[in-house]
Amino acid sequence: MSELSIRNLHVGIDGKEILKGVNLTVRQGEVHALMGPNGTGKSTLAYALMGHPNYQVTDGEAWFKGQNILDLAPDQRSHLGVFLAFQYPVAIPGVSVANFLRTALNAQRKAHDPADKGIPIPEFRKLIKERMELLRMDLNFAGRYLNDGFSGGEKKRAEILQMATLRPEIAILDETDSGLDIDALRIVSEGVNALRNPDLGVLVITHYQRILNYIKPDVVHIMMDGRVVESGGPELALHLEEHGYDWLREKIETEPA
Ligand code: ADP
Ligand code: MG
Repeated sequence: MSELSIRNLHVGIDGKEILKGVNLTVRQGEVHALMGPNGTGKSTLAYALMGHPNYQVTDGEAWFKGQNILDLAPDQRSHLGVFLAFQYPVAIPGVSVANFLRTALNAQRKAHDPADKGIPIPEFRKLIKERMELLRMDLNFAGRYLNDGFSGGEKKRAEILQMATLRPEIAILDETDSGLDIDALRIVSEGVNALRNPDLGVLVITHYQRILNYIKPDVVHIMMDGRVVESGGPELALHLEEHGYDWLREKIETEPA
């Protein structure tokens, strides 16, 4: 069993420090929710783990399977089994969802075995049909051009289908705090619930305190001002729903940093 272990992660944008020492561990087989008010650095964490060039890692590590993934190129992170969903996926007119998935899957196979000739089409069709049925998706979806005119919810569906096809061991799913509605969260949650298995660890980043209506995280973390300030069980999200974040702000202010 592997775990993604983020240790003392500091990240800046344009020289301004946003993440100020994040410590967070996500084990395979567990679903973790990362919550927190807007502007506290949740998306910054996702982008930094993805290797986005605008996000400068100034200190800290993120270990997975004996490697600090921050030292790896984004595709190497992916081939190691870390799936990072894009918050604003790009549209690729002319490339169908199915073609995109087949290309991604073949790249993954080749990374594991340079002699791999790619998944045979009939096998790929069977795989994608099975995965789409699991996610209760309309099979026509695979024929559409990737993200071309997709609604927010459809983009999320494409993301979850990509995850279902690539079968990562750690998946990090960031929800926007604007633009996407509770429907998108429902799609992601149902997908995660359907894909849940002992080999998959998930970090769902969300500001929706009602997440527990859709997903049952094993662990809930709260980020404030660039740090994870509290971790606990699902009851932590319920507590947030009732009491908001003020009690935590007070707690942080009275504790030495
Ligand atoms: P969250 O996802 O928790 O809402 P973000 O990680 O998006 O928070 O943002 C954290 C902080 O970084 C905010 O203060 C935000 O204004 C700042 N920030 C985010 N993106 C940029 C950027 N591209 N340039 C400068 N500052 C940014
Ligand atoms: Mg965000």
